[in-house]
Amino acid sequence: MTQPLDLLAIGAHPDDVEMTSGGWLALAHQQGHATGILHLTRGEMGTHGTPETRQAEAEQAASILGAQVAFAGLRDGHLHDDDQSVRVVVEQLRTLRPAVVIAPYFTCHHPDHEAAARLARKAVHFAALKGYHTEQAPHRVTRLVHARYSRHFEPSFYVDISLVLEAKQKAILAYHSQFQTVVEEDGKPLTRMSKPGFLDQFFSLSAGFGLKAGCAHAEAYLLETAPLVPDPVTLLRQGPMQHLIR
Ligand SMILES: [Zn+2]
Repeated sequence: MTQPLDLLAIGAHPDDVEMTSGGWLALAHQQGHATGILHLTRGEMGTHGTPETRQAEAEQAASILGAQVAFAGLRDGHLHDDDQSVRVVVEQLRTLRPAVVIAPYFTCHHPDHEAAARLARKAVHFAALKGYHTEQAPHRVTRLVHARYSRHFEPSFYVDISLVLEAKQKAILAYHSQFQTVVEEDGKPLTRMSKPGFLDQFFSLSAGFGLKAGCAHAEAYLLETAPLVPDPVTLLRQGPMQHLIR
């Protein structure tokens, strides 16, 4: 049996997790935590790339972030939180045994991302139940955290990703097929990601969160219930935006 994970990020399509939580994953790896990525599909409905190329890219991206990678084998464009899909994710959670799980936020422009959020929440619940039978032993996830996708929420906390920005960028760029800009070559249209300047625009978002959080770049996360803080003074004296007020 492999070592349990400290942090697992679940995404619908290869590249979702790298874009939304690549910074935290890189940072957690640097901090000595065992990290992993679970891609629910292989992104087989995507305009660019084949399932095989996207899987190879996902493996490359995970190795840049220092994370294990797993694929649930669910269908791109057809993600649902039905019983069969929940079972697949429960089995993955019981195998990978993460303490903290990152899932997408519940509302997003993409129905698969919304389904992934509901699927992760149900699977986290059922993975802990003795009465839910699979070949693996029950596993209790300590915390489910939601990452910011395309819809805004007021974050519960920010993660400073300034020192791991390069790793995050490299992990995103490992998805060569999604960044191809030569339209003539395959006759396929430019997607949002393959338009020139996309990455600069994309990283302006984490710079905006950084401005609010008091660092250069940050990722935003949501907890549905407030955490218990052992030393509130030490935590709260650090910010926010203390460096701007000084
Ligand atoms: Zn996606």
